[in-house]
Amino acid sequence: MRQKIVAGNWKMNNDLEAGKKLALEVLEKATGEEKAQIVLGTPYIHLTTVATSVAGKKGIQIAAQNCSDKASGAYTGEISASMIKSTGANYVILGHSERREYFYESAALLASKVDIALSNDLIPIFCCGEPLEIREAGTMYDYVKQQLTESLFHLSADDFAKITIAYEPIWAIGTGKTASSEQAQEMHAELRAHLASKFGKAAAEACPILYGGSCKPDNAQELFSQPDVDGGLIGGASLKADDFLAIVNAF
Ligand code: PGA
Repeated sequence: MRQKIVAGNWKMNNDLEAGKKLALEVLEKATGEEKAQIVLGTPYIHLTTVATSVAGKKGIQIAAQNCSDKASGAYTGEISASMIKSTGANYVILGHSERREYFYESAALLASKVDIALSNDLIPIFCCGEPLEIREAGTMYDYVKQQLTESLFHLSADDFAKITIAYEPIWAIGTGKTASSEQAQEMHAELRAHLASKFGKAAAEACPILYGGSCKPDNAQELFSQPDVDGGLIGGASLKADDFLAIVNAF
C-alpha cells in the first residue's frame, strides 16, 4: 500500500499571524485519524513556528516550497536545505510550475535541488506537468515523462525510494479547471510505467504520485478514487482549514 499524502501549498500567502492562525486551525480540527499524511507547505518564514506547533502531532509534516541548490555561503537571499531541515520541516516542494516559469528553474537546476534536499534528509515533492498547448497538441505524456527523466533519472535506487511526485497540469492550476479523474489516472499510470522502466516495478509501485490543480472538497474524492492517484498537492483550497481537511479525508 502506497502512502496517501495531501500536501497544502500556501504559495506566497499569509503573513506571520495569518499563517500561525491557519496552522493552528488545521491542528485543532485534525483528529489525528486522518486518511492521509498531512503536509503543510508554508513560506519560509512560517517553517519554524508551524513545525514547532505541530511537533509530536501524529500525521502532520511541514514542507518548504523551495530550497537553494547551494549548500551554504555567500548566496544572498537564499535558503539552504540544511536550514530548512533545522526548522523541523521534513519535505520540500521542488519544481513547481510557478518556479519553473517565473524563476527560470531548469531541469538541471532541479536535479541539483533534488540531490541537496535528499542529502539533507528532506523528502522532495517533485512537481511536473504540461502547459495547455502541450495538452492540446496531445504530446503531454512525453513532455511530463521527460521532466522526470531530466531531474530524477540520475538518482540511485535508494534515493529514488524517498521521492514523492506531484503531477500538476499547468492549465488546471488556480484556474478552477481541474483535470478529469480519467485524465489524472492516465497520466499517473504513464508516469508510473516510466518510473518502472528506470527504477523497476516495485520501486515505481511504491512511489506516491499526487495530483494538483484546482483540487477541491467537491472533486477530491473522485480524483483520489483512481488507482494511481495517491493524494493531492493543494493550492487555493489549502488556505481554508475546513476545505483542506475535507480534501485530506476524501479517500
Ligand atoms: P491550486 O494550486 O490548487 O490552487 O490549483 C495547486 C498548486 O499549484 O500546487
